[in-house]
Amino acid sequence: MRVVILGPPGAGKGTQTELLSKGLGVPKLNMGDILREAVKKKTPLGEKAQRYMKEGKLVPDELILKLLEEEIEKVAEDAGFVLEGFPRNLRQAQILNDFLESRGKNLDWVIYLKVEEEEIVNRLRHRLICSECGKVYRKGEVKQGRICEECGSQLVKRRDDNPRTVKERIKVYFEHTFPLVKYYQKKGILKEVEGKGKEEEVYERIRKALNLPGP
Ligand code: AMP
Repeated sequence: MRVVILGPPGAGKGTQTELLSKGLGVPKLNMGDILREAVKKKTPLGEKAQRYMKEGKLVPDELILKLLEEEIEKVAEDAGFVLEGFPRNLRQAQILNDFLESRGKNLDWVIYLKVEEEEIVNRLRHRLICSECGKVYRKGEVKQGRICEECGSQLVKRRDDNPRTVKERIKVYFEHTFPLVKYYQKKGILKEVEGKGKEEEVYERIRKALNLPGP
């Protein structure tokens, strides 16, 4: 199964991508993680992408496509994938479509994680991520010492989770990414899922929406 997870920043896309890729037994591709890794390694593409990310803007399509090319080539041959953070505008959606079509493949479902704006801002204000593995922690989930329970590394605030950048990211989301909801609705492959609540509850909704067998 080939699935895209769509939704505003802070909707829980990363967590649900992780759960769904495990549930389906297919690899995941998280564009934000790929970009953050490139920035951390100070690759030429990472250096270029960094300034857009810092400002909460979309990284230009040309850079994104270069980064994605190799990764998606790897997973496209497999039985499926869960893709997060891509596509983020109509052009990217068209490119993904053409890429899959040229390989005789198609997207099966797009999960739209719906979360109110007020809730998003609140989540982003409080969330921390692991500096090594990227696992996301919401308010109330962080244990004393701010250490990741998966890999033991330090939890940190994402650089772009500051109020000014968050505001810009939400604006960019509504302007460029939200139109994809209609785009995929028209194609008949959109599943809208309520993103409120605990991660297990949200995953349960996704599982049901995709008719996947229970745990
Ligand atoms: P995320 O982790 O998905 O919130 O992404 C963090 C940042 O990476 C975004 O605010 C953008 O600056 C950049 N980014 C991630 N995915 C894309 C994409 N598909 N196109 C352009 N920029 C992206």
